[in-house]
Amino acid sequence: MVHDVCIIGGGIVGLATAGAVLEKRPGSSIVILEKEQGLAVHQTGHNSGVIHAGIYYAPGSLKAKLCREGAAAIKQFCRDNEIPYEQCGKLVVATNELEHNRLKDLAERAKVNQIEIDWLDRDALREREPNVEGVAAIFVHATGIVDYKAVCRAMGAQLAAQGVDIELDTQVTDIRETSEAVTISAGERQWQAKQLIACAGLQSDRLARLAGLPIEHQIIPFRGEYFRLPASKSQLVKHLIYPVPDPALPFLGIHVTKMIDGSLTVGPNAVLGLAREGYPKSALSLRDVTEYLAFPGLWRLLWNNAGSAMSELRDSIWRKGYLEACRKYCPSLTLSDLQPMEAGIRAQAVMRDGRLEHDFLFLKTDRMLHVCNAPSPAATSSIPIGREIVDRCFGSP
Ligand SMILES: Cc1cc2nc3c(=O)[nH]c(=O)nc-3n(C[C@H](O)[C@H](O)[C@H](O)COP(=O)(O)OP(=O)(O)OC[C@H]3O[C@@H](n4cnc5c(N)ncnc54)[C@H](O)[C@@H]3O)c2cc1C
Repeated sequence: MVHDVCIIGGGIVGLATAGAVLEKRPGSSIVILEKEQGLAVHQTGHNSGVIHAGIYYAPGSLKAKLCREGAAAIKQFCRDNEIPYEQCGKLVVATNELEHNRLKDLAERAKVNQIEIDWLDRDALREREPNVEGVAAIFVHATGIVDYKAVCRAMGAQLAAQGVDIELDTQVTDIRETSEAVTISAGERQWQAKQLIACAGLQSDRLARLAGLPIEHQIIPFRGEYFRLPASKSQLVKHLIYPVPDPALPFLGIHVTKMIDGSLTVGPNAVLGLAREGYPKSALSLRDVTEYLAFPGLWRLLWNNAGSAMSELRDSIWRKGYLEACRKYCPSLTLSDLQPMEAGIRAQAVMRDGRLEHDFLFLKTDRMLHVCNAPSPAATSSIPIGREIVDRCFGSP
């Protein structure tokens, strides 16, 4: 049998894309191939659970557009499927003059991106969040929280009910494209599809190479390490609390995040990982490390960002340094509040010249589309990303 569409990857982008195919072409035959024994095992199941509003992204960028649409779409999906989410809002807090100036720029950008915000001075901030210190803050109304694993469970169940074949424990090992179809192999098993869509996150560059695409970038794993706060601190803040990000970096800085189960976490940092899919701190993959050490883009990236790379590494090893990053805006936190929690690992596309790709990156051939970079907020944006991918494969309406 030749399927209409084969999707590689059972993370939120692959699942949302399958949903978008059925929306545009009801009755399509779709197979999803996922190498793990469940859905959402990698980035989607190891993230902060934030529904971003879209304040940070360059006006006019795909990231800005898809995030705004995606936040509304995820909330609607949750309402339709009785998945708990909370629109708790977030504060971005400036703690010094430099951050105050950056915060003003961010407030301007939020307005251009049509996101509703309030500007808070020091007193207004203290009134809203007595345990948070800063010289000023912006409050973003639309930011929310959700469990993206629960979202994926509901997406998977809906897809299965519509006849989508979800093959777990199935690692794609070969891809061949001809003018008639794409043949996808997982060991001895084979599938044929008129269209292949690869949403493979941390393995996306390897799958693109496997399919013969002449790619210039490489996925570099950036660990995001978290700590859970004790139950006695679960009332510390009412909103999500973020620092003002460095505009040169794609990561948002260590933030205090409410989880949908009522607990509070701090994190994630952004430190070079030693394994693409190894979550314990001690995880090491020789293949992953040797591959990126041989990639000139990594060395250029480290050279251009030596200061932040070193401070991230120091704070990853030295918990007191990590704590200081949180205490800048949440001074009552102590070392004993930082309780262990599993890390997440970001799939970050790095170009040969050392540039971090900030936006989504898609590569297309006649019968294949490879999602080569789907950074945060791709969980928030997943539903419109799926529609965008489908438009690119089959043409817009
Ligand atoms: C620490 C961290 C915090 C984040 N916080 C947020 C947040 O708060 N809000 C937000 O919107 N976004 C956040 N993100 C980003 C978001 O989680 C990701 O952008 C999103 O989950 C990407 O989804 P995906 O489906 O592309 O990738 P993944 O979820 O990684 O899925 C890819 C899938 O492909 C499968 N796969 C790979 N290779 C193969 C193969 N050969 N054969 C078969 N299957 C294969 C993998 O097993 C995996 O299941 C965060 C990310 C991280 C890491």
